[in-house]
Amino acid sequence: MLIDGKLVESTRTFTSLNPATGQEVGQAPEATAADTEAAVAAARRAFDTTGWATDTELRARCLDRLHQVLVEHKEELRELTIAEAGAPRMLTHGNQLDIPIEIVRYYADLLADFSFREDLAEVESNGRRHRRWVEKEAAGVVAAIIPYNYPNQLALAKLAPALAAGCTVVLKASPDTPLITLALGELIAEHTGIPPGVVNVISSPGPAVGQLLTAHPDVDAISFTGSTATGRAIMESASSTVKRVFLELGGKSAMVVLDDADPASAAMFAAFTVCSHAGQGCALTTRLLVPRERHDEIVEQVAGALAHVSYGDPADPKTYMGPLISGRQRDKVDGMVQRAVAAGATLVTGGKKVDPGFFYEPTLLSNVDPDSEIAQEEVFGPVLAVIAFEDDDDAVRIANNTIYGLSGAVHSADEERAVALARRIRSGTFSINGGNYFGPDAPFGGYKQSGVGREMGVAGLEEFLERKTFAVVVG
Ligand code: NAD
Repeated sequence: MLIDGKLVESTRTFTSLNPATGQEVGQAPEATAADTEAAVAAARRAFDTTGWATDTELRARCLDRLHQVLVEHKEELRELTIAEAGAPRMLTHGNQLDIPIEIVRYYADLLADFSFREDLAEVESNGRRHRRWVEKEAAGVVAAIIPYNYPNQLALAKLAPALAAGCTVVLKASPDTPLITLALGELIAEHTGIPPGVVNVISSPGPAVGQLLTAHPDVDAISFTGSTATGRAIMESASSTVKRVFLELGGKSAMVVLDDADPASAAMFAAFTVCSHAGQGCALTTRLLVPRERHDEIVEQVAGALAHVSYGDPADPKTYMGPLISGRQRDKVDGMVQRAVAAGATLVTGGKKVDPGFFYEPTLLSNVDPDSEIAQEEVFGPVLAVIAFEDDDDAVRIANNTIYGLSGAVHSADEERAVALARRIRSGTFSINGGNYFGPDAPFGGYKQSGVGREMGVAGLEEFLERKTFAVVVG
């Protein structure tokens, strides 16, 4: 682990498994409460007693160096990401590694232009003139807590803007992918010149360390990505010290295929999207909404497309889909599929575990009831639920019939009609005819119970800034 600039071990360790084989990748340290306290104390000291929070040039240099170091060590990180997260090699050339590294570049560059000051108009008050301005300051010590599915993306989308803002950070790795995040800590300690205490990286197998961080009086802000259930617990825990809380939570996004869309291309998109990283993506469209009169035709096309999803060894460059992260996650997915069938959905294809490793077949359920569990709850597996709608209004109503609001997609030959429909769906991102909204400069986050706040882009930096308003009498 990285605590106060030093790489430290712990007396106890836990095992990290390769989900494609079920074999051990390595041992990760189990942070104790004392390790967690030491990490928070180091971050507090670095924030309160060093120039980190105010020296923008130093921060830009450190981010620039971090970007270079990540580029230099990209291939080691790639192999580790494939082995520990089960990420297919082809995905590491996108959202699993190469794009996340560019988030660091984006924030290093943003610092050159970003103004931490905003002047307000002079005002008259009590017969005097007052000059006023706003300064944006770092929010303080940040606890960053991440899940397992995109460990590089999630760590860097928190770390880079937090550091750019002048915050110091305690980053807690996911219990399922600790080694990837610890490797990041090692690179920071050994190659970046980021001052001691500014970044601390810890790992543990259970929730206790995360709970300690979210209630800690010396932590000013929490940046959390994970399930909605954990997000609720964190919000509650943070309330005792009234911390700033940023949450990126679950999703149950809908892809709407309008009656004028090309069904074959929409079917292809739907099939490959839901199998991306074996469905372990918060913003994936896991509900496919189709016009009732075209339900059977589109279901057949999606089933055909799913048959082309190559799954297996994630290290093979031709593999599109790798395994689920654990046996526990695979059992959860399988249980939901079985309950969906028991509730009346039709299992068109898939629905089976594949050994060795934690693989699950690409799975298609049709005639799904929009109020049933499979249409309402996040699966986090390669499972697509097809729901029929009557008209555009009905499609909007079904798309919005969820506690979540992270993303969505629409396919139509008429772009204006598609955009108009997208505006009526309450979600933080939207793809029109396959458009890609995801990138370092694009704010990402959820409406409703999918979260609070935005990550990446200028909005992602603003999440880590406080505003202080000044006024002086000038005449
Ligand atoms: P999780 O909520 O189980 O765990 C996430 C992290 O929180 C882990 O590091 C875990 O150790 C920690 N944690 C658990 N309980 C805690 C507590 N009480 N206090 C503090 N920390 C605690 O999530 P997961 O199963 O690892 O990941 C899958 C979930 O993440 C899915 O719901 C998915 O939608 C969500 N996710 C959301 C986004 C997004 O940007 N919206 C991105 C990726 C994943």
